[in-house]
Amino acid sequence: MTWEARAARPPSAAFLCDGCGREVVQVFGPPGGAVACPGCGREHDLGRDATPPGSRLLSRCLRCGLDRLYVQKDFNKKAGLWVFIVAAALSIPTWGLSLLAATLIDLALYYALGDATLCYGCGTVHRGYLRNPEHGPFDIHVQEAVDRRLRTA
Ligand SMILES: [Zn+2]
Ligand SMILES: [Zn+2]
Repeated sequence: MTWEARAARPPSAAFLCDGCGREVVQVFGPPGGAVACPGCGREHDLGRDATPPGSRLLSRCLRCGLDRLYVQKDFNKKAGLWVFIVAAALSIPTWGLSLLAATLIDLALYYALGDATLCYGCGTVHRGYLRNPEHGPFDIHVQEAVDRRLRTA
């Protein structure tokens, strides 16, 4: 198996349910289709407006259609922290080598996990898409502009 094949994840979107506020994750691609909220059972289907099949480039939010998106590393901070807690506990018998190992594991996790694309408007997290060169890192000024637009809309 090539590195690309292992790193590729099916495109998905994680967002908060309109009904109860719980996180709903919809994975696209076959079989795909609507997903029911684990909290209240409300059905969500973002797939109808999904990017054309085969295209992994995202241009607007799949949930609200906003074209202001930003990219951040999809890094699980909790997992990274646990690696360090275990390493710290092991650092005395291993003469500190475990801390070095933890740093390497964290770096590996950081690069293996890839990018997530987030919506400024509704916070939906899109995973498994190619990084769109038009999307930069989080910008507080864009966030303020979007907030203003949503309040006055
Ligand atoms: Zn719900
Ligand atoms: Zn959105």
